[in-house]
Amino acid sequence: MNITVFGTGYVGLVTGASLADVGHNVLCMDVDVAKIESLKKGIVTIHEPGLDVVVQRCFEDGTLNFSSSTEEAVAHGELIFIAVGTPPDEDGSADLQYVLQVAANIGRNMQDYKVIVNKSTVPVGTADKVKAAVAAELEARSSPLEFDVCSNPEFLKEGSALEDFNKGARIVVGTDSDRVVNIMRVCYGPYIRNHDKLMFMDVRAAELTKYAANAMLATKISFMNEMSQLAERLGVDIEQVRKGIGSDPRIGYQFIYPGCGYGGSCFPKDVKALAQTARTVGYVPELLDAVENVNTRQKGSMFEKLSKHFNGDLNGKTIALWGLSFKPDTDDMREAPSRDLMEALWAAGAKIQAFDPVASKECRRIYGDRPDLVLCEQRNDAVSGADALAICTEWKAFRFVDLKWLKSELKNPVIVDGRNLYSPADTKEFGFKYYAIGRSDSL
Ligand code: NAD
Repeated sequence: MNITVFGTGYVGLVTGASLADVGHNVLCMDVDVAKIESLKKGIVTIHEPGLDVVVQRCFEDGTLNFSSSTEEAVAHGELIFIAVGTPPDEDGSADLQYVLQVAANIGRNMQDYKVIVNKSTVPVGTADKVKAAVAAELEARSSPLEFDVCSNPEFLKEGSALEDFNKGARIVVGTDSDRVVNIMRVCYGPYIRNHDKLMFMDVRAAELTKYAANAMLATKISFMNEMSQLAERLGVDIEQVRKGIGSDPRIGYQFIYPGCGYGGSCFPKDVKALAQTARTVGYVPELLDAVENVNTRQKGSMFEKLSKHFNGDLNGKTIALWGLSFKPDTDDMREAPSRDLMEALWAAGAKIQAFDPVASKECRRIYGDRPDLVLCEQRNDAVSGADALAICTEWKAFRFVDLKWLKSELKNPVIVDGRNLYSPADTKEFGFKYYAIGRSDSL
């Protein structure tokens, strides 16, 4: 099939490359000309495991192409995916300007029937807005062309995006048109040969499914973080509780890790957007608001522990920071807990020596060169001479540390571990003050 994807971010590029990899003829379009020029040279500017290999292979095979021309992009695909950003507006609701820009561009340029697929995460009712934006452009040029709009939310996770796209639990499509059902079956045919995981539903149900899924996962995290706060105050080790409840199949082990809060481009914005949607229909979203509030408080907890340890005086202190990205295997720092910690430390007059396996470049892009931030090339360089070590991301490279060596590198034997990577008993044996999340001694 000829397929166009608007937006070459985490979702758009993974979608385009994956569909090209199963044999579709894909054109990816982005308004970011520099990004398109890099992609045309086979350079993937985001860090996503395996993505560069698939992009290069498909580009060389000729099944994946890139363009910054709207006309070319609209002409190419009978199926057009919209995978552009939907960042939070000032009130927390999803900003649909990029989605609607693409819709208008399609209406302005289309010359034959198109199926427009909303892959961006968008509030209930957006498909109707996209339809109206396309129709308005067609009307303006008195065109009788037909088109359909459907919803196909994406459930991939950064860090394992290719794997998730290709082997996801389900493919949700919201539509009321048999014609769209048939076309989407052809598009996703290569993914459903063994097991038909295509789920067709109402458009509005598909739109809400995406928000409900993210809100549920965020709720699990905030729930555990609330439990961790209780555990700290009650002298209980939350890790024992986590195993105790995770073993119940009704609860399960996934998404119940206590930590320094969730971040990224999805959970924070999607929980806020869903809460905002609730308010617009006259419902007070008590639970969603609590999920968000607990997370905000949790993101401040590492700074609180550090500040308390140094009796409120962090001025002039140097803090080693391991992990900048919001989770491992990505360079994405959108709403990352590391940012809350860094900003609070800078405000308190501290200096940071940070290391991240892939996100240093992104960190420099966000914060620029500043005297109170040293971005280290090696994990070990970051701790040298620091007053304490803080860990914000559970990268594999941090899972083991030689505690004897660490003690010799740090000025003070202090670890604030936002991901519960080490054993309180081991750290104690080596003479560390170990502040983790929800573990005894962590307050
Ligand atoms: P992103 O910010 O990484 O990429 C968006 C891209 O769209 C950018 O490259 C931008 O230049 C481009 N763009 C903006 N306006 C455009 C236009 N008019 N025409 C063409 N391109 C345009 O965003 P993302 O993380 O890929 O997310 C995209 C959508 O998918 C969002 O709605 C997000 O909520 C949703 N989503 C994201 C993830 C994730 O893990 N990142 C997972 C599932 C769903």
